[in-house]
Amino acid sequence: MPRLVSHPDEIKVISKRFGMGAEKIDRYIELGGYEAVKKCLQQGPDWIINEMKASNLRGRGGAGFPTGMKWSFVPKQSPKPKYVLVNGDESEPGTCKDHLIFLHDPHAVIEGTIIAGLAIGAKVGFIYLRGEYRYLIEIMERAVDEAYGRGFLGKNIFGSGNEFEAIVQTGAGAYEVGEESALMESLEGKRGVPRIKPPFPAVVGLYGGPTVINNAETIASVPPAILMGGAAYAELGSPRNGGTRLVSISGHVERPGVYELAMGYNLRKMIYDVAGGIRGGRKLKAVVPGGSSTPVLLPEEIDVGMDFDQVGKAGSMLGSAAVMVIDDRTCMVEIALRTIKFYRHESCGWCIPCREGTDWLEKTLTRFHAGFGVAKDIDNIYYLADNMMGHTFCPLGDAAAMPTLGFVKKFRKEFEDHLNGKPCPFAREGVPQLTVV
Ligand code: SF4
Repeated sequence: MPRLVSHPDEIKVISKRFGMGAEKIDRYIELGGYEAVKKCLQQGPDWIINEMKASNLRGRGGAGFPTGMKWSFVPKQSPKPKYVLVNGDESEPGTCKDHLIFLHDPHAVIEGTIIAGLAIGAKVGFIYLRGEYRYLIEIMERAVDEAYGRGFLGKNIFGSGNEFEAIVQTGAGAYEVGEESALMESLEGKRGVPRIKPPFPAVVGLYGGPTVINNAETIASVPPAILMGGAAYAELGSPRNGGTRLVSISGHVERPGVYELAMGYNLRKMIYDVAGGIRGGRKLKAVVPGGSSTPVLLPEEIDVGMDFDQVGKAGSMLGSAAVMVIDDRTCMVEIALRTIKFYRHESCGWCIPCREGTDWLEKTLTRFHAGFGVAKDIDNIYYLADNMMGHTFCPLGDAAAMPTLGFVKKFRKEFEDHLNGKPCPFAREGVPQLTVV
């Protein structure tokens, strides 16, 4: 469970109600809740979309697509019902921020969902929680019931004549359904595998109707962006990357936790100042900046602003802003192995490069880490991962390949140090070693 932590550099926009009892509707209202949706009801859909465009709010799930633009793609007229879908399938290793929103501020998710519905003309919103978050479903359902009880959801929301229903749904615990089209399949009661695109969900989505799918943090950022005004919200962040971001910092730091920082906040400062530096005063070896699927950065590469554009230029991705900090006692071959084990397990098996590629990578890395590797394995690992890139049906294939490529490219020497029967150079007392299976 992530800790509630605090630092003076934080700008509390999404997290301002955390720990303040806002899971109860009266407290949420007392703290300014449901004011943004009232403003939106007065202003109408075009105004909402323009404000979201001005806010430069970009998808917090990982893709970073501009939210206002995404909403504007939904056709105004549709013979089929439109839907809002909140992606709370938070499964990327290292990421634990949406969890806090559901736990402490469920009404912010509901309010953001209603606003998205008003913007695109949808009357139904689904809030989809990952299977392992079953204990949060009660909190979300209670909040939804409270909102119905006040007339904030239902046939005539806020007495406006508009209808909006909200439904909370949970998955069965599959990383793959974090992919938006697999999420829709799962919600429709089918096996959670991705759909062929195009058509895109904005045109043909859930049950064939136009659908907007947003990450839970994105949706929870909507009410504050509306209340502040899009331009003022954008100002909090960096160019083209508006607002703040919940950053999950984990690994070998003194103060791991979830912090809310401005988009573009310096990564080095995030690690050494906000999170208190490397645990036990040890040396930094590597940083995975945006969740396990993002390529690793070296210590000399972390003077970078944490937004989609700057981290991209540095050769990695902002992803879900899950910063994983690795110290000098860590074996990078073992990290590569543990990472691929996850993706092999979570591959849905739909396409060959991902299904077979992750399996071969896991087998090769397991043997390699155990000291049974030969020199050509290093190039084979690289070749396997490289051949998965861009050749799979959904981004999970790339998500598995990218970190592997990064580890081999940047830590080749460590791979060589495992060759020819040598024991893992990082093996030490009290640290369990992965063995050949
Ligand atoms: Fe499934 Fe992997 Fe193919 Fe995605 S890339 S469809 S997870 S097998």
